[in-house]
Amino acid sequence: MAAECPVCGADIEFPEGTVENELIECPDCGTELEVISVDPPKVEEAPSEEEDWGQ
Ligand SMILES: [Zn+2]
Repeated sequence: MAAECPVCGADIEFPEGTVENELIECPDCGTELEVISVDPPKVEEAPSEEEDWGQ
């Protein structure tokens, strides 16, 4: 199964055991992608690393 990178359009092969919300890197453009759905395979550009959890 393969998703399509929203940035460069490359096919993203999900490694075995991939789950929703997992972050994977596009092998082509290096963009960090979030797994939206495993079946059907879908990824989105991961949100930036600006996390403000307010400790
Ligand atoms: Zn890409």
